[in-house]
Amino acid sequence: MTEHLYYQDSFLYEFDAEVIGVTAVDSRPAVILDRTAFYPTSGGQVFDTGWIVPAGFAETSRLRVAEVAEREDGSILHFLESPAQIQPGSRIHGLIDTDRRRDHMQQHSGQHVLSAAFVRALNMPTVSFHMGAESCSIDLDTKSLSNKQAEAAEALANDVVTENRSVSIRFVTSAEAKDLGLRKLPPAERDQLRLIDIHDFDLTACGGTHVTATGQIGCILLRKIEKVRQRWRVEFVCGKRAVGTARRDYTALAESAGLLSTHVWDVPQQIQKSQEESRALKKSAEHALAEIADLYAVRMLAETPENGGRKIVVRVFPDRDLGFIKLLAQKLVRQSSSLVALLSAGADPPALVFAQSPGQPFDMGTLMKEALAKLGGRGGGSRDMAQGGTAQTGRVEAELKQIAARLGENQKH
Ligand SMILES: [Zn+2]
Repeated sequence: MTEHLYYQDSFLYEFDAEVIGVTAVDSRPAVILDRTAFYPTSGGQVFDTGWIVPAGFAETSRLRVAEVAEREDGSILHFLESPAQIQPGSRIHGLIDTDRRRDHMQQHSGQHVLSAAFVRALNMPTVSFHMGAESCSIDLDTKSLSNKQAEAAEALANDVVTENRSVSIRFVTSAEAKDLGLRKLPPAERDQLRLIDIHDFDLTACGGTHVTATGQIGCILLRKIEKVRQRWRVEFVCGKRAVGTARRDYTALAESAGLLSTHVWDVPQQIQKSQEESRALKKSAEHALAEIADLYAVRMLAETPENGGRKIVVRVFPDRDLGFIKLLAQKLVRQSSSLVALLSAGADPPALVFAQSPGQPFDMGTLMKEALAKLGGRGGGSRDMAQGGTAQTGRVEAELKQIAARLGENQKH
């Protein structure tokens, strides 16, 4: 059993202790101390990191504590980044990574304030808390949550931050706790409970590291709310992390505004306007393309001589794509009841379309498969319309002409 120094003082960043055990878990070396200020992962809060300096060594030869975990028997494992010569019975000096600890205090204390604010303002209890590397989240037991409601809770939480209310730690028995009106009781029955008391605002049982006054939280910034199964998840960041996140958000927004040549506040309207413009452009491009296909169809029909009561059109469009030659094929067979069109487009990826007017005697699907067997590629289709793709752009025109000649031969017999 390790004495938990962080239970009494979250601002204790250095301590001395005795090594009472040296072990390895999955070949990761770990040290057990008689007392520690290192917080192990629990209750939604992630572990501290830092260093230990064996007695008699200079601080420059400190050992990195990469992870801290609590075992069921209450002992705390300090996982070292690399193996070290440490003997049970020796003494060490522990150093907590203060940036990480302060960040965790801000996030976790911010969570207590925010969870209490959701209860007070909206009667929405928190059912779980997650502290991530970038942002934190709480899940609220509620069927609905609007942005406006979330903003109201955020405003109340930040009022409590500004009021700089004291945050104190108390220990009570489970029996005493029952009459105190705790926001949340721990799931397991324990002899003694550690309470975090935000003066006149929130009282809850928690083992985490917390600030001593709400002003130290800095600020509480909500980011996203989303429905997750039967609950609502609220993503938030506190303190210095909130400033960093807001800085990143603002940089992205300012870059977007620069690209749109507008003020950051006008970015959404500007994007909406651009989307409308591009939709209109797309529509007019489609119209233009349909008109071009119409004109091509008329000209190609006029230019192609009839052979035994049928016209066989062969055409390669190096700069057009599959969409265009499909459209053209449809227009051609619509304009003539006795036509076969063998078309190719060169635009990436190169494509083939074969089509015949309904009632014509050939099978476009079979012709396509035969052509691609020679050229290499994939494709197929029905009797009257088939499409395919091939990488052999150089040989396509000759192949199409050969097919056309064969179809012309066939009909003489
Ligand atoms: Zn807590």
